[in-house]
Amino acid sequence: MTSTLSAPHFHDEEAAYAYIEARLWKDGRDCPHCGTIENSVKLAGKSTRIGVYKCRDCRKPFTVKVNTIFESSHVKLHIWLQAIHLLASSKKGFSANQFARTLGVSLKAAWFMAHRIREAMRSVDLIPFGTAGGAVEADETFWGMDPDSFSASRMGGYGAMKVLTLIDRDSGRAKSVVIDDLNRETIEPILRENIAREARLMTDEAHRYKRIGREFAEHGSVNHSKDEYVSPDDITVHTQCVENYYSVFKRGMKGTYQHCAKRHLHRYCAEFDFRYTNRKALGVDDGERADRILAGVKGKRLTYRATDEGRTRSVA
Ligand SMILES: [Zn+2]
Repeated sequence: MTSTLSAPHFHDEEAAYAYIEARLWKDGRDCPHCGTIENSVKLAGKSTRIGVYKCRDCRKPFTVKVNTIFESSHVKLHIWLQAIHLLASSKKGFSANQFARTLGVSLKAAWFMAHRIREAMRSVDLIPFGTAGGAVEADETFWGMDPDSFSASRMGGYGAMKVLTLIDRDSGRAKSVVIDDLNRETIEPILRENIAREARLMTDEAHRYKRIGREFAEHGSVNHSKDEYVSPDDITVHTQCVENYYSVFKRGMKGTYQHCAKRHLHRYCAEFDFRYTNRKALGVDDGERADRILAGVKGKRLTYRATDEGRTRSVA
């Protein structure tokens, strides 16, 4: 990691702008005000800020930061690139405290940056899982405590937060969704929306998957309660990929993000989904993974209010 972090764009602000411009404007420099492509000039001169262009059509100035997660941030872009690299390459995640120490920014700024980067990691890929008849694994896991789950009848009063994860074995993609309960009515629409009809669904023996399972080309299940992890009849029937995903997710959540409020859990899910979907085993190295985050920074401005909503009813 130290060798790659020595690259100029991690330390020099002009190099950082050039690095991001080359990636965000690879199909031409478009004016964010009027949409005109390749009709702008770079403003130069001692008093000019770095990376300012002026549109020849609408006469307005702009930089590559407009309409991205970097807009309205006072943190230098080369620091942002370091943060993106760190979150892209750390298998267990990178906490706001670690960011603040490593990057020399305030804890508040670090926390805000990390959430914006997670937003850039959020997939906008709409291709259903299991297209062309591939196997899709579905499973759930529990994490922390769900403040909305109070039940006087339950011992301890509160239940855990719940995450449903789908893994497309062919493409290697992961998608996790925070859910309020494990009822069929909650799980079925998520599977229906994200998995192709021709897919082979793989789950454990849980009853909640039985009815929806009939909607797919095949439904294979393994009986975990009987210590069965791979079907004795068909070795492709298993849920080992999603179990591996959860082992990384839990190690990261436990080791790095211990106190995660429910309203933020979906952001951490997006982070773990992203690293899994763009993992080394699929030929994606740290540098390429960071560049793929950059590909997602556009159109995902996040205001402070949006990341901080509901703070007063927080439990963490
Ligand atoms: Zn313009």
